[in-house]
Amino acid sequence: MACFAALLLSLVPAPAKALDHWRAIDILRDRLAANGVRVKQRDCGQRGLQGLYHPSSETIVVCRVHSDPVAVWNTLAHEATHRMQVCRGGPITDPRHHRAMAATLANRAPLEWRSLQSYPARERLSELEARYTAQLPPDQVIRLFDRYCGRRSSAGLAFRTPSLR
Ligand SMILES: [Zn+2]
Repeated sequence: MACFAALLLSLVPAPAKALDHWRAIDILRDRLAANGVRVKQRDCGQRGLQGLYHPSSETIVVCRVHSDPVAVWNTLAHEATHRMQVCRGGPITDPRHHRAMAATLANRAPLEWRSLQSYPARERLSELEARYTAQLPPDQVIRLFDRYCGRRSSAGLAFRTPSLR
């Protein structure tokens, strides 16, 4: 894992992904199931809605609006991040990194950044974490999930928030 601070703002193109997205979706869905979370696909019927996590029923819904596996992965990784926040009992990133994460997201995924602005202030941090995490390479997302929701989830906050490559 590269040093977050050093690499955060060096926005080089992402290298070929180690994990194929369909395979990553399967792995993350299995991890979620082992953690008691069901993943369903359905027509959500709400414009712009791509997915949701419903903590009280332990369900993640992936809306049938995606046209490719990368988009499905992005939604699943986003909602899985909300699950990680529940496992952790709060934010999963170090407050010292939030400003840099926001700047990186604005650069790397401007649409995600813009839609973030429409959230109420109290939800913005959890949304920033979810959007940032969904941009990470799939193997890093799965590693974060294991860290926060895995069987050995006693680990504290990650020392370093992984950097976007
Ligand atoms: Zn969200």
